[in-house]
Formats: sequence, C-alpha cells, structure tokens
Amino acid sequence: MDKFYITTPIYYINGTPHLGHTYTTVAADILARWHRIQGKDVFFLVGTDENSQKVVEAAKKAGKSLQEFTDEMSSIWRETWLKLGISFDRFIRTTSPEHINAVKIFWERVQEKGDIYLGEYEGWYCVDCEEFIKESDLDDGGLCPYHKKKPDILKEKNYFFRLSKYKDALLEHIEKNPDFILPVERRNEVVSYIKNHLEDISISRETIDWGIPVPGDENQRIYVWFDALINYLSGIGFGQDEAKFSKYWPADVHLLGKEISKFHCALWPAMLMSAEIELPKTFFVHGHWTSDGQKMSKTIGNVVNPIDLMQEFSFDVVRYFLFRETPFGSDGDFSIARLKERYNSELANDLGNLLQRTLNMIDKYLDGRIDEEKVALYSYGLEQAGVYLENFKFDLALQEIWSAVSHLNKFIEEEKPWELFKNNEKEKLSEVLHRVYAILKEIVYFLEPFMPEITKKMRELLEKDRISAPDTPLFPKKE
Ligand SMILES: [Zn+2]
Repeated sequence: MDKFYITTPIYYINGTPHLGHTYTTVAADILARWHRIQGKDVFFLVGTDENSQKVVEAAKKAGKSLQEFTDEMSSIWRETWLKLGISFDRFIRTTSPEHINAVKIFWERVQEKGDIYLGEYEGWYCVDCEEFIKESDLDDGGLCPYHKKKPDILKEKNYFFRLSKYKDALLEHIEKNPDFILPVERRNEVVSYIKNHLEDISISRETIDWGIPVPGDENQRIYVWFDALINYLSGIGFGQDEAKFSKYWPADVHLLGKEISKFHCALWPAMLMSAEIELPKTFFVHGHWTSDGQKMSKTIGNVVNPIDLMQEFSFDVVRYFLFRETPFGSDGDFSIARLKERYNSELANDLGNLLQRTLNMIDKYLDGRIDEEKVALYSYGLEQAGVYLENFKFDLALQEIWSAVSHLNKFIEEEKPWELFKNNEKEKLSEVLHRVYAILKEIVYFLEPFMPEITKKMRELLEKDRISAPDTPLFPKKE
C-alpha cells in the first residue's frame, strides 16, 4: 500500500487559532482526505510548539504555571481542529517525552558528525520573533520590522550548527528536484537566501531555562527552531518506533506559510543532511490572507476566527470559499460578503438546485429507484480534478468540478425530463436521469475532500433505497 505523510507547521501556543492557521490545516486536511480516498495509508500530523520563551511570558501574564498553561493552550488548539472536523492522525506536543527524546537523539547525531560547535554570539534579538535580527534587517527606527519593537542586545555562548557547510548540497538538491519547493516564486526566494545569506546558526541559548536542555550541557537550552522542526520526525516515532518511522518517512508534503520558508526549506533539509536522514519530498509554501483588504490584526479587530464563522455557515462552506476564491500559493482576501455571494450563486444555486431537482425528478419519474447498471454507463471524466488536487491546484480542481455542475444544469434544461414524462418517452427519460445521477455521484466523489460533511449528506440522499428530495434543501439561500 502506498503511503502519504503530510504535516502542517506546529503552532505557537501563546495565541489561539485564526484563519491563517486554519487555512494551512484545512489544505492539509483536503490532501489527507484525497489520498485516503485513493486508498493510500495516510498519516496527517499537526501539533503545538511549546518550548519557546514567548510561552514563558504568556504563562506569566496569564498567572499560570507553565505546565498548566501549556496543557490548557495545546488543548484549545486540539479541540479547535476537532470542532472543525480536521482528520489528523496525531497531535504532537513538543513538551511530550517522546519529542524531547527524539530531539536528544537528533542532536547527538549532528554532534557526532562534527556539525555542532561552541561559539559566541552577540546581536539584536527580538523576543517575539525568537531570533537574532541582522542590523541590516532592522527598520529605519532600529526596530524589529515585524513587531515594531526594540530588540535586545544579546551576547552569550551558544552552540552553532554548521549550516553554511550545506550550502552547495542544498542548492544542488533544489536544482535537481524541481518539486522540492513549490511554488516557483517561493523556491526562487529560498535559493537567493541560500546563495547570499546562509550562515552558521546559533542553536542554543544560555539565558533561558525553558526548553529542551542541550545533551551534555545543562546550562544551555536548545533553540526553539532546531527543536520544533524535529516534530516532523518525532510525530511518526523517530527514536521510539522505528518500524512506524521508516514506514512514513520521508514526508510527502510539508505545508507552511511563506513567513517561515527559510527555516523550513533551508535549515531543516540541512539538519536532515547532517543527521543523514532522507529529505522530505515537497515543501508547499502558501500565501497570506487579509480581511476586507486589510492585514488581520487584533488592534483593527478584523481577525477572522474560524469557530465564529461556523455560527453562520457550515465549515464546509468556509472550506469551499477559501480554496475556490484564491489559488493556493497566492495571497487572498477574506470577506464575508464574497463568501455569501459565492455561497448563494455556486452552492445554493448551481449545486444545491441541481441536487434538489435531480432527487425530485428521480422520485417523480422513476419512482425513486436507480438502476446501478445504467449508472455505470455514464461519466463526465472528472479525473483532471484529481490531478489538479494532487498538484496543489485546488482552485482549478473546483473549477473543473463546477464545469460538470454547469454541464448538468444545462443538460437538464435541454433535455427537459418533464416533457419526456408528459410524452411518455420512458426510455429516453430513464437514460437522461441516469446520466445526471451518475455525473452527480462523480461530482460528490471529487468534492468530498473539500466538503466532507456536505458530501456525506449528499451521498446519503443519493443512495437511499427510495430516493426523494429533502424538505429543506442542503444549501438554503442566505439573505
Ligand atoms: Zn520581532
């Protein structure tokens, strides 16, 4: 059986899930579901990044112990994904004993390779970014360009990872494997970063006491990025369950947002090369969402919370919108008005009416009965939608599916089953309705990874022994 291993980034627990995290996680869910439908042995990993200095500050602010705070926050993340119906196989926490153990083993391997050395580091350090910022990257006022906050000067003894040693090997691997980093704009950015800025990186901190201790040096804690990336290994049993690990590794897809592409697409593969572990097959880097044309921010108060959206729309509708509206990989703009528009025209009107009238006609003209042998005769040929899906072209997959929806609506208007019924053309009528039914089932099949709940209901209606239309349509129009 083929396997498919997909991951999302693990999220910081000093905040709660918003649309950006949800977007990545739903994209992974769509791919996981699609590959499961294809009969693959899928492993879908999500989790939380808990060993950062930010967590210490957030716990203090909340007046909670670190244990209490991390347990509480990670369960909020987990519960959110469960509420949204995300079909993950494992939720990994970086404070779990098996992750800590995996990090130690990994560190020791890299150390044995001679790729870790003790050095001194001094630089501008932004606590919110959790990274040293180069002088040239500070904004005009000397502030962190992301947090608009004055960074601290930090000078300390650190362990360094010989990242620069892997420069040529990384460039060669990217060159030889065009699907290693997608889409191509993101690959170009990473290549230029590797060519121009790749330096050895400090991977431990002396000044903090939260985090995984450096093996053999209790005075140092492992820097959060070096620790966090290893979740992709520990989540499938690295250092614990070798059979499971070798079954799923290498990852087929690491999904991530563009703000963390340097760490994922340069540092992580270099770490793996050093530890002599096979590289993941593909990194897919997606864009950001704004909200009504503005960057989402707490101050403006336009942060979109996925759970809130569910009060008005089923989450399947939100999933549909996110991946229909914008090509995966590009930036998108979220707007409730646009969502409602697409809902009414594409879901309530095009698909919803098609389903409702088809069920009605089968009820009325075929006594609610379908002949499976006749169904097998017809197909629209939606295979291309599956090819698009596997290649991260979610919007094109949905367009393809909707071309079948439009085709059927047009076909019904042209063939006019109600007139065939009136004229007693029974054979033709049965042929027309079986054709519509067959293609509708095909639509449901390709739509399932995008809208798992709604397609389940559609399938139930279409597979009843005695087919009839429900009193309330699946997609009632919204005012
Ligand atoms: Zn910052």
